[in-house]
Amino acid sequence: MKPIYLDNNATTMVADEAREAMLPYLSAEYGNPSSMHHFGGKVHRKIESAREEVAKLINAEPEEIIFTSCGTESDNTAIMSALETTGKRHIITTRVEHPAVLNFCMAQGRKGCKTAFLPVDKSGRLDLDNLEKAINDETAVVSVMYANNESGVIFPIEKIAEIVKSRGVLFHTVAVQGAGKIEIDVKRLPVDMMSLSGHKIHAPKGVGALYIRKGTRFSPYIIGGHQERGRRSGTENVASIVAMGTACGLARNNIAEEIVKMKRMRDRLENGLIERCPDAIINGDKENRLPNTTNISFEYIEGEAILLRLNEHNICASSGSACTSGSLEPSHVLRAMGVPFTAIHGSVRFSLSRYTTDEEIDFVLKTMPPIIRELRDLSPFGR
Ligand code: PLP
Repeated sequence: MKPIYLDNNATTMVADEAREAMLPYLSAEYGNPSSMHHFGGKVHRKIESAREEVAKLINAEPEEIIFTSCGTESDNTAIMSALETTGKRHIITTRVEHPAVLNFCMAQGRKGCKTAFLPVDKSGRLDLDNLEKAINDETAVVSVMYANNESGVIFPIEKIAEIVKSRGVLFHTVAVQGAGKIEIDVKRLPVDMMSLSGHKIHAPKGVGALYIRKGTRFSPYIIGGHQERGRRSGTENVASIVAMGTACGLARNNIAEEIVKMKRMRDRLENGLIERCPDAIINGDKENRLPNTTNISFEYIEGEAILLRLNEHNICASSGSACTSGSLEPSHVLRAMGVPFTAIHGSVRFSLSRYTTDEEIDFVLKTMPPIIRELRDLSPFGR
């Protein structure tokens, strides 16, 4: 049975068009894109058209895009490159970043780097004065995510980038959750580097990209042959790169309608649950949020218990990010936002996609309130 999949910030279904596009590169078109012969050359040209599609999604130039293996690699590469090229040892980031940034910064800390982890307020917003004050002469890079994977909160990247660039510091943003869900235009945003991930936008897992603005000094993280013009060595994951190009094209062509459609369904789900379930609170800034994400705390019950009960009805959601589920550690994002303990534990994230249907939303609205009532009755803190 097809799941009611509302966990698209964890990963997405591969679009049919993306899967079709990659198939020839898993069979007949197996040439190495670096080969001199025409058989490899055809594959090389296909990678270049995928690069154009990825570039167009964020209004970049194709030569500003390198393909990587995932968002995590793009994040690590960007920060490491900034440390290497500036020779400086101070990083600024936020407390609500993905572990791909947080844990990388911690690891650099063990090698003598210092990181400022900026706090957020209860709506998940950053204090920009705080950010400006944190910048010093040793700052190599500021890395602030475009949109948060757990709360969906969108940071004011244009303003942040302006502050950072006015101080002559490199700026990296993780647009893994933003790309394809909101319009991003790097010609209007003074960002130096931006991370993207294929599997969040209906391409397969194991492919990502890093935008590096023309003129930005760059030091490769993976060193070897000359692939990606020496900026990321290793024989290319051709089929997945082709699929990512197709997925970016699909996202770009339909983005305006998809934003409206996802937002309408997300709001219907959110309002319906808030109306039908007492002691439910929305986490995060409602004004500046991804159109596909809602994070709701059902106080006095465990998010994991809710997920298990939803799972019995074939509904897939998440409590916190997929990377941390499996542990009962409360979400670092909600903790940073100061969400009360009783609410953090009962938080559930629903994230929609272009494939979500109204019937699925209706089913969740019918199924979930009795589950919440039942779990509350069982809870020692229940009401
Ligand atoms: N950054 C953010 C904000 C994410 O949501 C994720 C994945 O959940 C990543 C980075 C890591 O991307 P990948 O899974 O492609 O390594």
